[in-house]
Amino acid sequence: MATPSNLDERSTPNDLLEKVTSLCKRRGFIFQSAEIYGGFRSTYDYGPLGVQMLRNVKEQWWKAIVQRRDDVVGLDAAILSPPAIWAASGHLETFTDPLVDCRKCNERWREDKINGVCPNCKSTEFTEPRAFNLMFKTQAGPVEGDGATAYLRPETAQGMFTNFANVLTTMRKKPPFGIAQIGKSFRNEITPGNFVFRTREFEQMELEFFVPPEDAEQWYRYWIEERFNWYLRLGLPEEKLRKNEAAPEDLAHYSKGTTDIEFAFPWGFDELEGVANRGDYDLTAHASASGEKLEYFDQATSTRYTPYVIEPAAGATRAMMAFLLASYTEDEVGGETRSLLRLHPKLAPIQVAILPLSKKPEIEAPAREVLAMLQEHFLCDYDVTQSIGKRYRRQDEVGTPWCVTVDFDTLEDHCVTLRDRDTTMQIRIAISELRSYLLTAMENA
Ligand code: ATP
Repeated sequence: MATPSNLDERSTPNDLLEKVTSLCKRRGFIFQSAEIYGGFRSTYDYGPLGVQMLRNVKEQWWKAIVQRRDDVVGLDAAILSPPAIWAASGHLETFTDPLVDCRKCNERWREDKINGVCPNCKSTEFTEPRAFNLMFKTQAGPVEGDGATAYLRPETAQGMFTNFANVLTTMRKKPPFGIAQIGKSFRNEITPGNFVFRTREFEQMELEFFVPPEDAEQWYRYWIEERFNWYLRLGLPEEKLRKNEAAPEDLAHYSKGTTDIEFAFPWGFDELEGVANRGDYDLTAHASASGEKLEYFDQATSTRYTPYVIEPAAGATRAMMAFLLASYTEDEVGGETRSLLRLHPKLAPIQVAILPLSKKPEIEAPAREVLAMLQEHFLCDYDVTQSIGKRYRRQDEVGTPWCVTVDFDTLEDHCVTLRDRDTTMQIRIAISELRSYLLTAMENA
């Protein structure tokens, strides 16, 4: 087998983006939305393999942030929200991007993303930038008017702030503790693009971690490391990740520190996740706007204080794109080029494929038994079509780490052949040992 390549040497970065985008469509990961009506710009639907992979990404985040900790609890807040929340948070006034019109072709652009040249017609003449609010505004109920205005949330974070007191009292938590949420957010991005990197509808995975103010800096550093290591553990190569800490003069007025975790996308390093020390800005703003006390009373010291918050804010759909890009590989097997996704087994949309070598009932029967046994623990596929070589290629291409073939020898020796995606090595293993072998392999991955 030739040395695998992530295309860095042989191809241009755009090739990688194109290859992954086309694989996503061809193999049922991600489709253009409303395609039969000509498509809806920069909006995507997650197909059978995509929805599973996205769920796996979110599951790994939830496990790391909520399930394996005793200081973080979960939340699922509403997407529709009243203007009061966004007035208090500052979004109504300042959640804007600078919008400019090209004077020649009239295309609209986000001024800070185009380096002064129109990407469409190369003109350098633009209108003065105006502040364009990114929130989607809608109306709740049948009667129009100010009282009916609602917004689709542009981030999940505010749900954690507005429920701070509810969680504190119902869960008997004390700082340091966190509230975590995964869900859809909506931003009317001026220039969406780069596949699912920037879309108007996307999924976020956010944690608000409330701490005593004097410990905030230490927790800020802690969460940068935790989050960086999460991406590493799930297979993003260290040389394609970096931490980019904002200079003090570039920070928002309330921010005490922001570090972006960035990935080497085909167009250069760009944000995967932002980790911020937001001080007591959010709780103070909501307390003053709502009149509710959003504080913690420490009985041990009889003191009352507003906790500081450390916020690791990640994009689930953007992370999935990074995992796809980083895992796409081409190598040579038996003199033929194969493309594969070297996905971490916990992210792969199919973890084990069961491939009977014949459609004869005496082979399909034990194959289906193996399927039923493994389905309880793994995401499985069952495929009887085409030659075994073609079936292996199809599984490699979607990142399936293990293939199990059932053949005529199985009827005699009660063993199956287990093939590894990355090495293509095959071993013969007893059906009775298969489940525990794979569970161990998954745990050690
Ligand atoms: P950018 O500067 O790229 O517009 P941001 O700094 O405004 O992003 P945050 O508000 O910090 O982004 O959002 C947290 C995370 O949510 C981002 O790191 C990203 O992973 C994800 N995200 C934000 N906007 C989008 C979008 N339009 N499409 C997909 N993911 C997004």
